[in-house]
Amino acid sequence: MKSYEGKLLINGAWVDSVSRKIEEIKSPFDGVEVGQAAVASVADVEIALQAAVSGAEIWRRTPAHQRSAVMLKAAELADQRAEEIAQIISSENGKSLIEARGEAGRSGEIIRLGAFEGAHLYGSSLPLDANKGTGLDKIGFTLRQPVGVVVAISPFNYPALLVLHKLAPALGSGNSVVLKPARATPLTALAIAQCFLDAGLPAGVLNVLTGSGSELGDALCSDSRVRKISFTGSTSTGTYITRIAGVKKLSLELGASSPVVVLPDADLELATRAVALGGYINSGQVCISVQRVIVHEKVKDDFLQALKVRVEAIKVGDPKADGIEVGTLINAKEAERVATSIRVAISEGATLITGGELDGSIVSPAIVADVNPSASIAQDELFGPAVAVSTATSVEEALDFANSTPYGLGSGVFTRDVDSAIRAAREIDSGIVHINWTPLWRADLMPYGGLKASGIGKEGVKSAIEEMTEVKTIILHGRNW
Ligand code: NAP
Repeated sequence: MKSYEGKLLINGAWVDSVSRKIEEIKSPFDGVEVGQAAVASVADVEIALQAAVSGAEIWRRTPAHQRSAVMLKAAELADQRAEEIAQIISSENGKSLIEARGEAGRSGEIIRLGAFEGAHLYGSSLPLDANKGTGLDKIGFTLRQPVGVVVAISPFNYPALLVLHKLAPALGSGNSVVLKPARATPLTALAIAQCFLDAGLPAGVLNVLTGSGSELGDALCSDSRVRKISFTGSTSTGTYITRIAGVKKLSLELGASSPVVVLPDADLELATRAVALGGYINSGQVCISVQRVIVHEKVKDDFLQALKVRVEAIKVGDPKADGIEVGTLINAKEAERVATSIRVAISEGATLITGGELDGSIVSPAIVADVNPSASIAQDELFGPAVAVSTATSVEEALDFANSTPYGLGSGVFTRDVDSAIRAAREIDSGIVHINWTPLWRADLMPYGGLKASGIGKEGVKSAIEEMTEVKTIILHGRNW
């Protein structure tokens, strides 16, 4: 058993929770216990926040080159432990080892980005003499500094990636963190935290509380010692956090129903290849998953025919078996919910082209065609392995359909026509627009975040650092000369 199992990380040490309560973490595939996690209570939140306050004092006064050295060591450890982290991800989350290895393999790079960007906290000089009545006796500039204590709350679907998109920028730029990973997938977060501990991160700079978000959320989010909440999860939880947070910085990476528009001049081979990946990776449990395809009526039949062949070729099953590309959903209840949504869509008049069968926590990759764009399978976030295909008769109608949900995270447009591409880039209300690929693509350095009900603020290490730091304006008043 690892030293972190069943423990909380507080003030640089793995400790029991106040209640000493522990729970089993089980594989979504076969229900076998894969590890144990402590169940923190509000009493542990208080201890962790106190530790984070002293951690923030130490870390903000640590020169950036020293912070960077610790981060680079943590990155090296994450690289060395990538296979171990991948096995943990796959065990507790149910995603295939192929996908888990891809996710774990990005850890070191994200931490290195945090080290690099955290050493580039630039300000700017202010041309004060351009202010009428002000002379050359003053010098003004901005100074970027860490906010202090960051509360990071992450979801289950990318247990390493989404934790690191908070830890790397927060720690790189000199903040302390209290991390609350998803209850279903805490073990990955603990293994990542161990890399930072072993790299020599000072006590209190990173604290990890496992347990229930709904029990710990109020204490974590409403505390005035916390200067920033970095939350990734559902729109409903994010909305709740906006109500209780009080005056502090907020980044909310929330839900989505991401569209892909396929125009008549699209490269259909490319479009179907991309949708067959983008709709089904991680069993569709990706905020930037392709949930909707809006295809021009002229190419609908060809598109569906080609997509069906590709989707039926996806290898689904035991996440740890050789060659399996897509594993389970996070649990059998979620799988049942997704299968039911597909059945409801069919009963409302849509056509099932393939998939949608339920087997424990697995739903076979589905294509649902003839979907009314206002049906719930298009409007509400599905978070499962099904793509809802609707038809449009013009570019304008396709873009209208793309914008017809409350969400606006990612989108994709397939076209060979530059005019249509530019129009789509300007008109689609989403935080990220891909031309000739689906929304399911991310470089860890790019600005990443949603519009409308998909959230506020941007992640991507450089952008996240902007949101995890404060800008002070400094004015030096000289004597007139
Ligand atoms: P969730 O239920 O909202 O949970 C997310 C995190 O919030 C978990 O750690 C959860 O803890 C915690 N939480 C629950 N109630 C809370 C409360 N009252 N106060 C504070 N924290 C609370 O979301 P999920 O089901 O894990 O994740 C799926 C959702 O995340 C989808 O909607 C997906 O689109 C979204 N997502 C968005 C992005 C993005 O970048 N926009 C990326 C990935 C996922 P427990 O696990 O203990 O409940």
